[in-house]
Amino acid sequence: MYSYNQLCSALDTVQDELIQHDFWDTKLSKIDVYWDIYSSAYGFQNFYDDKKYGNKGSITIPAFSRSKFQELFGSQYVSLKDILRHEYGHAFAYCNKKLISTIEFKNAFGGIHNNVELFEYNPNHFVSKYAALNTMEDFAETFMYYLEYSGILATKFNHPIIARKWKFISHLSNLKS
Ligand SMILES: [Zn+2]
Repeated sequence: MYSYNQLCSALDTVQDELIQHDFWDTKLSKIDVYWDIYSSAYGFQNFYDDKKYGNKGSITIPAFSRSKFQELFGSQYVSLKDILRHEYGHAFAYCNKKLISTIEFKNAFGGIHNNVELFEYNPNHFVSKYAALNTMEDFAETFMYYLEYSGILATKFNHPIIARKWKFISHLSNLKS
């Protein structure tokens, strides 16, 4: 389970990373992060106004989640920082709709951001299995690893298709208005 203090500490680190990579701006700083008791997922980003979860665009991280529980039974461990990095990927996309609607995005990710099409997982094409779920998750997962690895493309990701997505993310701060 995650305590409120753990969430605040992880949030400090991830927000610092966002600042370092120049992803942090007024829009992203207005994204609230909520701590909740339970959710099935590790965390989520709220696309709609919700009475329970407050502001549109906000991120919610539950203290307990089914996903976290499943780690006890062999599913891959995901750190709280990675959960936040992933959700901030969604939040960045939410705050910068123009950037993710470009032809450059489509060329890099092989589809439009809100594509619901399931891709076939290939480790040379995706940073993780979850990234193959759809384009939106692919973006969030790549964004997560980009922050985790300080923007340096790891050898395991050094494949042309992943490198193209990585490069797109590295250019985002320059494209931001
Ligand atoms: Zn996601």
